[in-house]
Amino acid sequence: MSFIEEKEKYLRMDINEKRKNYSTKNILSVNDIPTWPEYWQTNKDNIDKYKKSENDKFDMSSLANKISIWEGDITTLEIDAIVNAANESLLGGGGVDGAIHRAAGPYLRKECATLKGCQVGEAKITGGYKLPAKYIIHTVGPRGEKPDKLRDCYINSLELAENNEIKTIAFPCISTGVYGYPQQAAAEVALRHVLLHLEHHPKISRVIFCLFLSTDKEIYEKLLQKYCPQK
Ligand code: ADP
Repeated sequence: MSFIEEKEKYLRMDINEKRKNYSTKNILSVNDIPTWPEYWQTNKDNIDKYKKSENDKFDMSSLANKISIWEGDITTLEIDAIVNAANESLLGGGGVDGAIHRAAGPYLRKECATLKGCQVGEAKITGGYKLPAKYIIHTVGPRGEKPDKLRDCYINSLELAENNEIKTIAFPCISTGVYGYPQQAAAEVALRHVLLHLEHHPKISRVIFCLFLSTDKEIYEKLLQKYCPQK
């Protein structure tokens, strides 16, 4: 069977039928993941507090209900799209890329092979195949600290999502693994630019920052207090 038939098969499949084909266990629906205000109410006594500074003018609390932080494996999310931190070849690699290709199955690589690669900062979309996510948006992060390129990854992924009627999307911490972008600096770029984009693009209803490492969870918990302060 060609990847096209296989892709369409999964995209058309009834959700109960699709669930029988998932290759990963402990699937979580986007509706089971708390929004930032819910997360804050549950966890505020255990979260490291952010100290407000005079220069904090960037208050995006009105968007807080569209943002989630969640610690876990992105391949377990039943959501419209997950983002892959891919490499330029789009043919699979290590880290989150490897996990996504393993869980989606071999037809993903066949579709990726038709896309003629992807430049740093760009984004391309494929089907999700055996993943609980309907679509995968592949983006290539910069090697090292290059804020403009990292911003492009987030913005181009969101734009591609909107053009494909995707309303719920999960991002891994692009570039912060093998590509060596410092975690704190990457989180600042990710949160700031996703929030700025959402302000003017209301079609996306939820962005989940999927945090694989507890160090990233701590960074995002603190930064969200700065960008989307809660009482
Ligand atoms: P890059 O090459 O862009 O640095 P990596 O895959 O090496 O990509 O790392 C990006 C981030 O993805 C890191 O924070 C890493 O811990 C995280 N990660 C690795 N596996 C998974 C997974 N299954 N789900 C979510 N995040 C993951």
